[in-house]
Amino acid sequence: MVRKARLGGYAGQHLYVDMTKEQCKTVPIDRKFAVTYLGGQGFSSRILYDEVGPQTDPLGPENVLIWATGPFTGTLWPQASRYVVGAKSPLTGIFGEAHAAGHWGPELKFAGFDTIIITGRAKRPLYLLIDNGIAQLLDAKDLWGHNTNETEEMIKEAHNDPSLRVSCIGQAGENLVRFAAIINDYDRAAARSGIGAVAGSKRLKAVAVRGSKDIPIAKPDRYLEVIEELHKKMLDSPFTTSRAQYGTTNLVELMQEIGRLPSYNMRSGVFAEYKKISGEAIKDHYLVKPRADYACLQRCGRYTLVRTGPYAYCGGSPEYESQSALGSRCGNDNLESILYGHHLSNLYGLDTISTGSTISWAMEAWEEGLITAKDTGGIDLEWGNHESIIKLIHMIAHREGFGDILAEGSYRAAKRIGRGTEKFVMHCKKQEIAGQEPRAQKSMGLATATAARGADHLYAFPVLDEVGFDEEIGIRYGQEYLPEIGDRLNPKFKGIMVKENEDFCAVVESLGVCKYGTLIPPVLFYEDIVAAFEVTVGIHLTEAQFRQIGERIVNLNRGFNVREGIRRKDDSLPRRLTHIPAPEGPSKGQVVELDQMLDEYYEQRGWQLKTGLPKTQTLHRLDLDDVANDLLKQGIKLPQ
Ligand code: SF4
Repeated sequence: MVRKARLGGYAGQHLYVDMTKEQCKTVPIDRKFAVTYLGGQGFSSRILYDEVGPQTDPLGPENVLIWATGPFTGTLWPQASRYVVGAKSPLTGIFGEAHAAGHWGPELKFAGFDTIIITGRAKRPLYLLIDNGIAQLLDAKDLWGHNTNETEEMIKEAHNDPSLRVSCIGQAGENLVRFAAIINDYDRAAARSGIGAVAGSKRLKAVAVRGSKDIPIAKPDRYLEVIEELHKKMLDSPFTTSRAQYGTTNLVELMQEIGRLPSYNMRSGVFAEYKKISGEAIKDHYLVKPRADYACLQRCGRYTLVRTGPYAYCGGSPEYESQSALGSRCGNDNLESILYGHHLSNLYGLDTISTGSTISWAMEAWEEGLITAKDTGGIDLEWGNHESIIKLIHMIAHREGFGDILAEGSYRAAKRIGRGTEKFVMHCKKQEIAGQEPRAQKSMGLATATAARGADHLYAFPVLDEVGFDEEIGIRYGQEYLPEIGDRLNPKFKGIMVKENEDFCAVVESLGVCKYGTLIPPVLFYEDIVAAFEVTVGIHLTEAQFRQIGERIVNLNRGFNVREGIRRKDDSLPRRLTHIPAPEGPSKGQVVELDQMLDEYYEQRGWQLKTGLPKTQTLHRLDLDDVANDLLKQGIKLPQ
């Protein structure tokens, strides 16, 4: 019998965990599956499509929860720290996923697995321990009710091993807050889509991993040479130096400069008090030191310290999204409360973007007199009231009083309260929009509207028209599109840009590496991936093949959403952003020309302009005939 050589880069096994029966089983990773979907997002998307049928209750036992690493996770690629968690989202009811860095993903590979697929629902709280290839479910009764840091500490203590890596939920996930996160390595958040609530619904408190297995490298003789070259490129990039100084916190200043810093629930893209909450202010007064995730040369993570007062803490520092969500978005210029609010959200396991955005929705409704003290139980929701923001974070995590309504997310909260508060919800497909005011950067508006998991700045992350667009970068899109594509206020050619970036992001998230340094800015690009994949995995895929894999994953995610009823009408933005000109700042007078950009985007994608449905020939070209057939079986006839 001829045995197929094991692929390099992969641990080689899926771990299936049935929470209902409290059983684990391993399944070898199929070579064809690996080459078709790569890993990470690709694995998660395919498993989700196959295992979660339409109309499945996201908080029911039929939903699945998938942790997936990629073939580069845990290798020497300069930032090989990432993993993806996928599930049908309880916030949006459609495709859901979240990503995180840290050390947990690499450790899962060292423990012998590429993916974990959780099914069913346990009768009692459990946690999963994976110890060098052996998986077992253990009683989590004593962990239930504890925050994420306590949970991690308690598990390490119970196994007398401080080097265990833990991914877990806090009280928000237990209480099924619809935007609950999963936190690993104390403060790395897989935050979006409410995947923490899916873990809570399955009564899975944590996944702890440790291992000492090797990740096989297909061509060790050439591997170090290729990797050394990648490290050199990364270290030579000017962005590497600035990232280690500020992480993403100095985006506050950069966003303010172009009118893209959302303030007062996205009424405006500038915030008069931005200096008080800036990256510079954090660096000058609170920064302890930067920190790196596994194999990272850029070190955007950091620790901060607030010495005294009600917001005293020492721990993970916010990045830009938390600064804007809990700061300018809520009209809040109290930096210590933002740092503490971010920390608190990590302890409870909350997505700070949805938390801050939902609170800012309530603040605007309060100002308009549509929400009153009668609704809030006496809590004052005036803009910038940082004490109320902190109080609400506690109440959301525990689903107490008004916090129980906010825990549903701004879309459902507005539906419940009514009275015209619906028009202040800043969402797409029921997920709150991140800290990117799209009237100041049209590509971000389109990307937010088309992202598969609902409002999402990371699915495409088209920032090149913001950070600068030189000749070399133009090659990615074709020189003929310059200079319009590099003009952030010009809607022209943004469909091309978003499509290209979505495909590339899908590849990056599937390989298990960080977007900093690949996408933002493109220090490492397709040619580097081709070279590294060949020496790591042992298969030569061309740039065109990687591009096709990215496109396949995006279309698969669209297929999932189409099966749930998503069409062009849902690729939308709030009226405020498409019809009301930005009232002030450098982007004053701008709106998002979404329809025009959507037409161009659908054209590029091979999707029907009128409906946003993928054409049969598009799915056929991407080897997704089974998806086309499945949609047909569901009564959805795709255009030719
Ligand atoms: S750049 Fe930041 S998020 Fe990316 S791997 Fe490094 S520390 Fe982690």
